[in-house]
Amino acid sequence: MKAEDEIPPIVVDPAAPAVQIASRLLSELCAHALEAQPEECCGLLTGNGEQRFTRVHRCQNVMTALHRENPAQFPRDGRQAYYMNEADYLRTQQEAEAAGQGVTAVYHSHVGAGLHFSSMDQLYARQALFPFPEAAQIVLSVWDRVVEAGVFEPTAEGRGFRGRPLEVVEA
Ligand SMILES: [Zn+2]
Repeated sequence: MKAEDEIPPIVVDPAAPAVQIASRLLSELCAHALEAQPEECCGLLTGNGEQRFTRVHRCQNVMTALHRENPAQFPRDGRQAYYMNEADYLRTQQEAEAAGQGVTAVYHSHVGAGLHFSSMDQLYARQALFPFPEAAQIVLSVWDRVVEAGVFEPTAEGRGFRGRPLEVVEA
């Protein structure tokens, strides 16, 4: 695996086709991001083949706890990184599958940082045990308020991501 500083961050390509999200779901993501300040929020969206994003499921960001336990392995705390609580995402996955749905996106916020898919985000999403390798990755950039949001889609080759704009729709 490449060192973190060798992987350039990925930005949204404004010319790429936009990904649609319902305004009520984006509002829920923004509310979570604002409540979590000064830490990053994280969570999942579930959906199905007909409607890709139908529900928001908050997950606890346990990065600060991991950092306190093991600062060598987890050099950043929750203000600069996220780590989804395993019990939260497993429960969401099980409930979604029982309802004929699946996890279609992972979301998190950047506090006082821009809209990009960072080297750390890429390493987290590509690790062998990452539970949702095919999910889209939604990032919200927060500077006191949510200033930007975008989506990073895994490419067909499976190792890269492409940044795409989010298009808010009423649904
Ligand atoms: Zn990030």
